[in-house]
Amino acid sequence: SNIPKIVILGAGYGGILTALRLQKELNYNEADVTLVNKHDYHYFTTHLHMPAAGTDNPENARVGISKLIDEFKIDFVKSTVVQIRPQDKKVILEDGTLSYDYLVIGVGGEPETFGIPGMIENAMNIRSINSVRLIREHIEYQFARYKREPHRTDYLTFVVGGAGFTGIEFIGELADRIPELCKQFDIDPANVKLYNIEAAPTALPGFDPELVEYAMEVLSKKGVTFKIGTAIKECTPDGVIVGEGEEIRSQTVIWTGGIRGNRLIEEAGFETMRGRVKVDEFLRAPGHENIYIVGDNSLMFNPEGRPYPPTAQIAMQQGVTCAHNLVASIRNQPLKGFEFKNKGTVASLGKGEAIGIAFGKKYKGRFAALLKIAIDLRYLFIIGGIPLVLRKGKFL
Ligand code: FAD
Repeated sequence: SNIPKIVILGAGYGGILTALRLQKELNYNEADVTLVNKHDYHYFTTHLHMPAAGTDNPENARVGISKLIDEFKIDFVKSTVVQIRPQDKKVILEDGTLSYDYLVIGVGGEPETFGIPGMIENAMNIRSINSVRLIREHIEYQFARYKREPHRTDYLTFVVGGAGFTGIEFIGELADRIPELCKQFDIDPANVKLYNIEAAPTALPGFDPELVEYAMEVLSKKGVTFKIGTAIKECTPDGVIVGEGEEIRSQTVIWTGGIRGNRLIEEAGFETMRGRVKVDEFLRAPGHENIYIVGDNSLMFNPEGRPYPPTAQIAMQQGVTCAHNLVASIRNQPLKGFEFKNKGTVASLGKGEAIGIAFGKKYKGRFAALLKIAIDLRYLFIIGGIPLVLRKGKFL
């Protein structure tokens, strides 16, 4: 048929918003839309620090894609993309091939380990529902092991590499979980060590210094030992080597120190910086008028010329613009340039504690924690309306 084919790769923040907007804006038979995702559910990456630490159930961090999209309007294909072939306008899946007229790439990023030896092999990452189930089980298992071999203090030593948003949010949850696990396994909490190691001269680089200080104070009180301005030199099966060669023995290293673009993008032949494509103002890959890239795989610069950090917030806004531009292309109407509207940022520090900047103001403590909940609920509302808010919303 002559109906244009739109294929969306990835049902993360960018991909799902693109799909939902297309579903709303396209007229009947104006385009064929196919959404491809590795799993039959969408997960809330921004919530994964909780199930990773075990302070929430992984079920609260995901929702079935069939609950979000109208399958009469969008074809959903559960499969893994193995290759993108812009020259042939084709996408190779693990179990088939799709051809497209327009492509949206939203497959999310990958951990960046900056070549630190052993990090890929020996550390775990907070990336998906499966990866956080592994982390949660692994942590509990260390407590069980320690009961049999109480001389092995490395079982109760937990290392978080990176004090960016993910590292800080995760260690806050983990610090909340430790007393519970200690009680459950009859272990003196004094035996547990939590390290957060960051190479940059400050935790939460780029964030307001007063709020950063507050965050470190809250987390230190919860038992976190910070090593800031300290690079991890190597990650081994026995722990990490830091700074000038100090060894921290640990059976649990969680790496949150960086995100890069997906390897699929480089392999497709796009020009990239750390795996990301510098897209044009309409979110298209340079030289490809029919390929849009949203979320962690796109690179965009603010008016001052600094790259926007990859966030769910920008991915969602890109999804909206991307859908608008796809519809405009199909209708031969002018495209709209992307403009990021910063709605603020809130980082949680465990139960009832957070820091953030919103509405041009700084917030900390209980109110910031409520803001975080409000942001999460707003997201549930945007993608799934009131029913999803009621099913997945955590109110306090
Ligand atoms: P993702 O949301 O990562 O989704 C990618 C999708 O593609 C997934 O569904 C995946 O299964 C699928 N996929 C991947 N590979 C393939 C393949 N080969 N084939 C098929 N499907 C595939 N951002 C904020 O704005 N605020 C926050 O508070 C915040 N907190 C965070 C906390 C944590 C713990 C983490 C890890 C991140 C946080 N972020 C936050 C960052 C944010 O989660 C990411 O920037 C965002 O998820 C990027 O969205 P995306 O659409 O690019 O991809």
